[in-house]
Amino acid sequence: MSPGFAPGARVGVLTTEPLDRILDYRAPEGGCATGDFVEVPLGPRRVLGVVWGPGAGDFDAAKLRPVARVLDAAPMRDEMRGFLERAADYTLTPLSAMLRLATRAPGLGDAPSMQKVYRRGPGAPDRMTPARTRVLDTLDAYGGLAFTLGELAGEAGVSPSVVKGLLPSGAVLEEDTPRDRPYPRLDPARPGVALADDQAEAAGRLCAGVAAGDYATTLLKGVTGSGKTEVYLEAVAECLGKGRQALVLLPEIALTAEFLARVEARFGARPAEWHSGVTMVERRRLWRMVGEGGAQLVVGARSALFLPFRDLGLIVVDEEHDSSYKQEEGALYNARDMAVLRASLCSAQVVLASATPSLESWANAEAGKYARIDLTSRFGEAEMPDMAALDMRAEDVPAGRWISPGLQRAVGERLTAGRQSLLFLNRRGYAPVTVCRACGHMIGCENCDARMVEHRFLKRLVCHQCGETRPIPDACPSCQAAGKLAPVGPGVERLAEETAALFPEARVAVLSSDLFTTARALKSSIEAIAGGGADIIIGTQIVAKGHNFPLLTLVGVIDADLGLQGSDLRAAERTFQLMRQVAGRAGRGAERGVALLQTFQPEHPVIRAILTGDEEGFWRAEAAERRAAGVPPYGRMAGIVLSAPEAKPAFELGTHLARNDAPLRRIGAQLYGPAPAPIARIRGRHRVRLLIKAAKGTPLQSAIREWLAPVKLPANVRLAVDIDPQSFL
Ligand code: ADP
Ligand code: ZN
Repeated sequence: MSPGFAPGARVGVLTTEPLDRILDYRAPEGGCATGDFVEVPLGPRRVLGVVWGPGAGDFDAAKLRPVARVLDAAPMRDEMRGFLERAADYTLTPLSAMLRLATRAPGLGDAPSMQKVYRRGPGAPDRMTPARTRVLDTLDAYGGLAFTLGELAGEAGVSPSVVKGLLPSGAVLEEDTPRDRPYPRLDPARPGVALADDQAEAAGRLCAGVAAGDYATTLLKGVTGSGKTEVYLEAVAECLGKGRQALVLLPEIALTAEFLARVEARFGARPAEWHSGVTMVERRRLWRMVGEGGAQLVVGARSALFLPFRDLGLIVVDEEHDSSYKQEEGALYNARDMAVLRASLCSAQVVLASATPSLESWANAEAGKYARIDLTSRFGEAEMPDMAALDMRAEDVPAGRWISPGLQRAVGERLTAGRQSLLFLNRRGYAPVTVCRACGHMIGCENCDARMVEHRFLKRLVCHQCGETRPIPDACPSCQAAGKLAPVGPGVERLAEETAALFPEARVAVLSSDLFTTARALKSSIEAIAGGGADIIIGTQIVAKGHNFPLLTLVGVIDADLGLQGSDLRAAERTFQLMRQVAGRAGRGAERGVALLQTFQPEHPVIRAILTGDEEGFWRAEAAERRAAGVPPYGRMAGIVLSAPEAKPAFELGTHLARNDAPLRRIGAQLYGPAPAPIARIRGRHRVRLLIKAAKGTPLQSAIREWLAPVKLPANVRLAVDIDPQSFL
């Protein structure tokens, strides 16, 4: 039991307001306890908070105001409070920001509202119709389960009036229930697929971990199609069977359509979903049900990690290397690392699944901190595709075209054979640069240090930094010459144009995040393509992740060198991962696939590692280089970004910080900068960067805290600390 506070006692309340301290209040009539969700007065408003413990006692007792009310919600558990504190400490984020992440559901304080649900009744209708039969069959098939009108009509494929028509006879009953209903029970005892030997062994090891009921992290490394999902679903079954909850994190919404169907096939019902596409009503229901134990399995995006699970026993981080696990705005956290932290605090198991793990996880497994399980072959007949380079120095490609004759031939063969091809280019829009042929001016964004990208489909220029768009002008904005603007370089839209010209008879589909206004539209498009709705798929990196295209037997990478440019610490790692992932899309059915990489540097070590598939060799070489340079995962880094409407105050603060870096020097850390950030202006704010490098095992966070503590931010200047930065822009 958490300590209770008698009415009038002094309590400390953490609110979601950006105050960065715990405020004192008096316990309300009826008292309260540590962990209670409360509403407290703050100035003229009432704000959400959590009773964090006894009050600090340094606030004038006469001025203390009472807690307005204790909310009717499961109190925050000690382990969750510990998690938020540790996460705040690690990321140097105010605790209040962490609490905001943990309360991202609306109306937490509202009384539960009611809604009508429908279930099977004892009556029999005097007249049956096929539609009525479907309604009753649906209700019978789900036992005693109650449906909302929409769910029941949808499931039975009838109009709502058919359901209503069954009420007078008592064949269907209408009832009021709280809107926040428990989720349908998943049945972990249902048999899964028959596992192959290596899969069964892997599943056995994961299940043993779950059964032990303590903390451990396992890296589940398996080529795409090896059955990682089937394997970790066994661990989920074990976890649910023990009565504990499980969380599966996925990198993006588009993945969940296929995934939810698989969960339903395995456990007989759909899990709870948590991501940006979920309605507010559903968010609230999920938040409450997770806390009350009415949701066994949550499938979600990174922020699902902050849900108030009652008894979390397993966290799966699928595609653990994915960079979208790093939140790059607000609280800068990496969901993969926070999953490990949370699990260690609640005796849960973590499974990090990937075909191409991050070097961080690979190194943790090498060091024995994580267990490692390898699945080396694809399930059934499917095999990894044959990989080959197309040497662009030898291929004869006309100016303004990007598909080499070699790739064109390969696509042509697939077309004749009725198979699909995927052309991969990680560039949205029509052309990355628009240049004036009269004066050489390149059209840039007015708010950012970035080029405007032509999106011909939208008929606009778009800034990929700030989202600003404007019509494509006729005349050059610099020299006013008309009709001289020309696109330079390829984007997927331009590639689609070239493809259509080369293969006029082919059905071409473009998959690029900006072409879909909703996640649902993207999902259904992916499903249509998987079902054979296109001959040639042209895609950005959204096609690299998890989707299954059974008819796809050729992947052509338009520019394999693209990711190798630039000085990003992870350029080689990211290129390796992305190319292997994309190539893995080919030949997921019974037929063997082929992946062709267009490159100007076929002898580059990264390209060679991609082609030979010598993954361990690649990781070892990459690890050796990082170790020698003392960079992550063999050293620690933190980035500081100062931004302001004018460059000067940001630079001045940066210089001041650099001159007063004693706390950093004390731990032997090196400070670089201030320097203009690679993207020196975003949304009208000038950006200045500092970078800190420290040895592994040094108390980096506390040194930074001490270093920044005396800083008074000038008006308009913002400071963001990024521990373990993924992006250096
Ligand atoms: P991964 O997650 O490693 O990419 P999946 O778990 O998605 O692999 O498996 C790839 C495909 O093979 C899926 O269609 C899956 O249903 C199928 N599969 C994997 N293992 C088995 C099995 N033991 N029995 C039947 N189908 C399987
Ligand atoms: Zn911009």
